[in-house]
Amino acid sequence: MAVKNDAAISASALSRLIHAADRAREGAVAPYSRFKVGAALLTRKGEIVTGANVESASYGLTCCAERIALFNALTSARKDFVAVAVIARIAGGPMPCGACRQLLAEYASDANVYVADSRKLKVVKQFSVRELLPGAFLDFRPA
Ligand SMILES: [Zn+2]
Repeated sequence: MAVKNDAAISASALSRLIHAADRAREGAVAPYSRFKVGAALLTRKGEIVTGANVESASYGLTCCAERIALFNALTSARKDFVAVAVIARIAGGPMPCGACRQLLAEYASDANVYVADSRKLKVVKQFSVRELLPGAFLDFRPA
């Protein structure tokens, strides 16, 4: 597995998470782009919560797999996320968009992000949420 040695989770947990995200792709509703993305969040307790992208005829309403997974997890009282895997059929794996990086910074700031191409699930890139969104906007309240 092409993961750096400072991986926050074990290789077996990562493999389980990657495969959960890949299976979640099957739930994608992507009639326009046909770009199916699956995401899976891992909690510190070892629970996995998944999501897939959902597109709208009004394209701007489309929601990414990462946010669907995150909303699914948050609204079922899951928290304390240690990792998120994102899988799609794209060279190098799908990088989270800016909107997803923002939500991950707010609700999964300590998590590592793992991305992989669905055709090469053993080639995994690892990032921290913090490195994906430096200087994140986290508090709107005046000091
Ligand atoms: Zn996104």
